[in-house]
Amino acid sequence: MGELSQETQVAVIGGGPGGYAAAFRAADLGLDVTLVEQEPRCGGTCLLRGCIPSKALLQTSEIIWDAAEAARRGVRFPTPELDLAKLRSWKDGIIDTLASGLDRLAKKRNVQIVRARAVFENAHTLRLEGSELTHLTFRHAVVAVGSEPLSLPGVSLKPGGRIMDSTGALAVHDIPARLLVVGGGYIGLELGCAYAVFGSRVTLVHRAERILGGVDDDLVRPLVKRIGGLFESVRLETDVEALREDADGVTAVLRGPSETLEERFDRVLIAVGRAPRSRGLGLEALGVAMDEAGFIRVDDRRRTSVPHIYAVGDVAGHPMLAHKAMREGKVAAEAIAGMPSAYDVQAVPAVVYTDPQIAWAGLTETEARRKNLAVKIARFPWGASGRALTMDAADGLTKILFDPESGRILGMGIVGRGAETMIAEGVLALEMGASAEDVALTVHAHPTLSETEGEAAEVFLGSATHLYVPQGAQGKTTPP
Ligand code: FAD
Repeated sequence: MGELSQETQVAVIGGGPGGYAAAFRAADLGLDVTLVEQEPRCGGTCLLRGCIPSKALLQTSEIIWDAAEAARRGVRFPTPELDLAKLRSWKDGIIDTLASGLDRLAKKRNVQIVRARAVFENAHTLRLEGSELTHLTFRHAVVAVGSEPLSLPGVSLKPGGRIMDSTGALAVHDIPARLLVVGGGYIGLELGCAYAVFGSRVTLVHRAERILGGVDDDLVRPLVKRIGGLFESVRLETDVEALREDADGVTAVLRGPSETLEERFDRVLIAVGRAPRSRGLGLEALGVAMDEAGFIRVDDRRRTSVPHIYAVGDVAGHPMLAHKAMREGKVAAEAIAGMPSAYDVQAVPAVVYTDPQIAWAGLTETEARRKNLAVKIARFPWGASGRALTMDAADGLTKILFDPESGRILGMGIVGRGAETMIAEGVLALEMGASAEDVALTVHAHPTLSETEGEAAEVFLGSATHLYVPQGAQGKTTPP
């Protein structure tokens, strides 16, 4: 086959949230853009095997959970039946709709999408594998190749096998009678919860002494309580020594703090983290600097050490979240277009979509303690929220961290239903440099869970309508 090459102003490698956000913004700014994606569809990990399919499953499990819980209020539904084929096709339909939407958005903006695997041949040329177009020369490039799941040492995953990563679990081949989830981070917890509600007896093993390392204790506690009842077992400080797969199941050798046990499972989900996909792209030969973990080093404009090559999203560092990737993609596009843009966000929200959900933004109590920062923390327990009680969500909590002198908001944490949406008020407050008064004097609709944010700010100010605040108890100062 002969060589066919093409020129473009901006080559974007990867059609996930970081890549398509960069491509679309660059095109909106009048640049000529070519996006190279190795898969048949755009959307990346997030759309095809991450954010969206996981939320589709969690939303379904929430319906099942709520139906069972409704008995407490005198409403009884028959035991639900899961039609897995229908569930899969509904979930895949959402992905198809969104992926074809991305193609349409690209077309409208004149972003050319090339289906190929891209490798840097030199600092201004990509070699394209698997397409008629063999070379793409560019003035600027944005590397948005994302990340891939890590496995356990010595464990290799077979397609369709019983040992799965998150992609395998999201395919919902079946609902295994016994599922071992390895990893107590957000992916293991989200998928473990969905499978447990679908009927699997779930064992979760986690290497550290608590799940969701780094997240504040009081935010994690209600989830710990929930999975304590939902999962068959939660084993902390436990390592997987070996996994042996056979025709009928998987034997796991689990080394805990006091004993080592062998147990049988029908399936195993490995959710122990993700690694940047920076190797094999030819970046090293160009002198693009990376850290020890393989993340591409970038400056505040998302330029790599080779200034006309940018990197965004998971491959450019933590937090590996889609909204961070999208923001970075826009910054890179604007920088390429000559705008004075920088990635200078005040806070990137994080959300764990379990039930209860956990969300936080800005400074956390854990970080404040670690850094010995003086902060005041005001809490509003959802037991005092009428709306929370109607939702059976009295175990929720909203807390805000303030600068003790100025009352400026430094961080927010929420546990409970709807935390995914509520955290937006905290992020906006952080971006605007808002104070306790700003949030407390904002009228929140009644009855809503958002009132707990206004009232947490009131707690800091010393008088909250639905919570008695004794004199001098306006939020706890950390360190004490
Ligand atoms: P990706 O989305 O990984 O996209 C990279 C793209 O580059 C891929 O399409 C890949 O095919 C393509 N590519 C790679 N190499 C090449 C090459 N050489 N040539 C051409 N194309 C190439 N984040 C959230 O914010 N919220 C969530 O709720 C959430 N849930 C998640 C649930 C799961 C189970 C998982 C696994 C992840 C979840 N994430 C979530 C993380 C989120 O998916 C990622 O942070 C996000 O997708 C990163 O975007 P990206 O553009 O950097 O990379």
